[in-house]
Amino acid sequence: MLTILYRGPLSSCDYDCAYCPFAKRRDTPERLRADRAALERFAAWAAAQDFELSILFTPWGEGLVRSWYRRALVALSWLPNVRRVAIQTNLSCRTGWLAEASDRAALWVTYHPTQVPYERMVAKIRSLPVRHSVGIVGDPAHLEHARRLRADLPAETYLWVNAEEGRLYTDDEAGAWAEIDPLFSYSRFPHASRDLPCRTGESVISVDGEGTVRRCHFVPEVLGNLYDGSYRPALRPRGCPAGSCDCHIGYVHLEPVGLYDVFAGGILERIPASWPHVSRSGW
Ligand code: SF4
Ligand code: SF4
Repeated sequence: MLTILYRGPLSSCDYDCAYCPFAKRRDTPERLRADRAALERFAAWAAAQDFELSILFTPWGEGLVRSWYRRALVALSWLPNVRRVAIQTNLSCRTGWLAEASDRAALWVTYHPTQVPYERMVAKIRSLPVRHSVGIVGDPAHLEHARRLRADLPAETYLWVNAEEGRLYTDDEAGAWAEIDPLFSYSRFPHASRDLPCRTGESVISVDGEGTVRRCHFVPEVLGNLYDGSYRPALRPRGCPAGSCDCHIGYVHLEPVGLYDVFAGGILERIPASWPHVSRSGW
């Protein structure tokens, strides 16, 4: 089974979050065409493989406002060799089309309180017909929104909290966020990773629109290309060359962190195996 993190050329978003470089960025028509062609090529490649795949789309910006991401999610979810296909999204799109996806489709939803009315967001999440987690950035200005969301979402919906980039949390502050997400401690600090075993580069790869394969989104070394098969001989166990890993889509694969057990069955869409019966992890 190969897990793929796919990120094409798309780099635009319909939202305007203060903490994001892609806020309200527009793509040119040429770039959108290239993104669509790249995604369709990737989906065709996935359909032609004789081994199992799990796929997470991690676009810069928002994919589901583009028809080709919606179509790809539905089509890939029905392929016999696709165990899971998930996408990171702000959920600004309509959601009725998700009823056409199989139960192997999933969403990694992020709630951005400054960008969408609260009631609309809660109603959309509640109506989702596919597996999903929901999350929020741990900005102190979001704390009350997060508490309210935790109270209003069904208990079986996992609400994760990502530590805000560059923010140091006191134990009291971290404790407040851990009341909402008992796994917040995993996000609070970057994970030391140099030379430690990480599944990326062996059973997990990152793929861009050209088919260039890297071990993960954070290590620039190229392992080969997806479409000519040159990446395959490069797959092997390998330690992380970076000093630390601070993004969930990276350190979830870092073996000593142990998150494959915590998120078993829901690694890509970030749903803990035993949710809602998860006890708070220590810090
Ligand atoms: S929704 Fe996501 S991609 Fe869009 S501006 Fe906000 S943080 Fe950036
Ligand atoms: S630990 Fe993070 S940065 Fe290092 S190889 Fe794994 S995913 Fe990449």
